[in-house]
Amino acid sequence: MEIRAKRGVSSVLYVNIDFPTKGFTFHRNSECRYVRNRAETPYKGLDQLKRDGGWFEHNSLEEALEWHKARYAIFPVKECSRCALK
Ligand SMILES: [Zn+2]
Repeated sequence: MEIRAKRGVSSVLYVNIDFPTKGFTFHRNSECRYVRNRAETPYKGLDQLKRDGGWFEHNSLEEALEWHKARYAIFPVKECSRCALK
């Protein structure tokens, strides 16, 4: 997939690891509905993994992809389509 840096968007990336859907989705936009609604739940962690996965913050896409490669390389990397709409 093609991943390009976008101007004017915070470099902080929000990554959602979701075990049930085997998803590794990154969000570029802190205003994204999914990012704003992220919360610690019994099955989903913030900065930690729980049964269904968790949310993590990375300082760059490179860092997030390195992290992905080291742990969840079998999960396809996806970019949130909602973030890109803004
Ligand atoms: Zn998003």
